[in-house]
Amino acid sequence: MEEKRTMWRSKQRREKLTEILPLSTPLTINVEISSSCNLRCCYCLQSLDKCQKEKQKFLPRNMEYNIFKKLVDGCKQFDRKIKVLKLCGLGEPLINPRLEDMIKYANESGYFEKIILFSNGVLLTPERTDKIMQSGGIDSVLLDIQGISADDYLRYAGITIDYEKFIENIQYFFAQSRERNTEVFAKAYRFALNNQTERFFELFAPIADYVSIDNIYEVFKNVDYSGLITTQDTFGNEIDYKNTEYCPQPLFLLAVNADGTIEACCNTQDRNESDLVIGDIRNETLYHIWNGKRLKFIRNSILRNGKVFPKCKDCKLIENFADSDIIDTNIEKLRQVYL
Ligand code: SF4
Repeated sequence: MEEKRTMWRSKQRREKLTEILPLSTPLTINVEISSSCNLRCCYCLQSLDKCQKEKQKFLPRNMEYNIFKKLVDGCKQFDRKIKVLKLCGLGEPLINPRLEDMIKYANESGYFEKIILFSNGVLLTPERTDKIMQSGGIDSVLLDIQGISADDYLRYAGITIDYEKFIENIQYFFAQSRERNTEVFAKAYRFALNNQTERFFELFAPIADYVSIDNIYEVFKNVDYSGLITTQDTFGNEIDYKNTEYCPQPLFLLAVNADGTIEACCNTQDRNESDLVIGDIRNETLYHIWNGKRLKFIRNSILRNGKVFPKCKDCKLIENFADSDIIDTNIEKLRQVYL
């Protein structure tokens, strides 16, 4: 049991970024196959009312299958496989009824070394699990758990669930995933565990490969974070926030929103801020966007001056990147390569 306790970020095995830059092929492509969610978690933009979401140009929609296919097909132009395709974003991927077709298409393309699904798991019924397995399966799933009881789900995620059934469903997924060697991560935010961290480990260690507790930080504008911020990691140690100045994300990642627009990083929450929008998969290929002028401008601006874009100034993500991705200490070397 003990050995299952981990930090999610520490399990994202990746080479030290500064040793492999510049990249002809992105390492990671994040794809938001749905911007709708079945939960209204109190720390998420999904908890805001319709009017507030619309103000941030955040509309619930499923990515069209043809857009996803075009995105995958375009990866043929890169000279290497993409290390990770992440099905993630601000919505719940299982809401998209074509999720399994998308997984199948991505698997069969052979363009991705790994496919990772980010999900709250509430819609992960045995039927969906079977379909995911039949589609060739995924390499990892990161399950965001909102508490250790149905009461917690009502309080923190605004939904009534049958908690026992939820656990049974994850157990079923875990059992089915053994054949495909799918890694199952269960992650909860510390505030939602109400000091019952041991109970969380007891519940999820038997039905996951890794169990971690994460801290919450203020990601979304207009969301009230009072009472939610905690500063301890899975092991109860104080988290060492990094004072990072130079964001590495535009150097290795592309983030595709449900409508097909593409951003240079995973901070895709306020869609009024278009500084980091670099293209649209409906009109261009990922290859052209990756090698295009807009992304070059963003990379160079960041490498020269750090947090130059308005979104970067308030960005908390930059304080939480994995150590292997930090580029600050190599900034001079990178300027010589890129500028
Ligand atoms: S600092 Fe934040 S907003 Fe700026 S590029 Fe990095 S992840 Fe995006």
